[in-house]
Amino acid sequence: MTTRKPLMAGNWKMHHTHLEAIQVVQKLSYRLEKKDYDRTEVVVCPAFTALRSVQTTLDADRIPIALGAQNVHPEEKGAFTGEVSPVMLAKLNVRFVIVGHSERREIFGETDDFVNRKVRAVLAAGMQPILCCGETLEEREAGETDAKVQRQVTAGLAGVSPADATGVVVAYEPIWAIGTGRTASAEDANATISVIRKTLRSVVGETAATIRVLYGGSVKPGNAHELMAQPEIDGALVGGASLDPDDFARIIQYGR
Ligand code: PEP
Repeated sequence: MTTRKPLMAGNWKMHHTHLEAIQVVQKLSYRLEKKDYDRTEVVVCPAFTALRSVQTTLDADRIPIALGAQNVHPEEKGAFTGEVSPVMLAKLNVRFVIVGHSERREIFGETDDFVNRKVRAVLAAGMQPILCCGETLEEREAGETDAKVQRQVTAGLAGVSPADATGVVVAYEPIWAIGTGRTASAEDANATISVIRKTLRSVVGETAATIRVLYGGSVKPGNAHELMAQPEIDGALVGGASLDPDDFARIIQYGR
């Protein structure tokens, strides 16, 4: 049986200046112990403006938290005003990049095809994409959840070889649960993640067993334990609760 090390990623969205971000990552590190890092991989995804400051803090204090970015442009360089390239992130020791978050798909109009270009660009630059998928409330009520995540995962990984896919992380984030305080039941989240795992198997074969699939959507210290007890849930992508180092540390400790 393949063992997948759980991963807890904090998506800070458009919060925390670089000064606040330094404080938050330091406070988070004070609350975590070696056994937490041994059990779980921890990632923080600050805004672009805070990446360099958080990177130097992690390096200087030898904090074993990985750095993630919230977005990337698929091209290496060029006339793309306001965008950031994969190589720029990789040079900052960014290891993970959130790709295809529902806020980017819904607010900024990102298509499956554009998300796929980003996934491939992130992998080509030696980083790991956190590919997000998930259904709206209307889609859930219409019984379209499985078809939606199957489509997003298949399209997101088009052209990715099984060897490269070992670097991929998938996050199942029901859109109706993001920032709303409503969480999918642990059993429902587990069932949809099983569908994602089957989809991964059809796209990248045996490699699917090594790919971590996270749950995201109003994860809090109070529901982390139940979610992490599910066999298919390999960790969490945490928005609001990751802004507070105490809450995020408790989630990383599965609600201890
Ligand atoms: C997210 O935006 O990825 C997320 C899961 O947010 P929240 O935890 O606030 O629902």
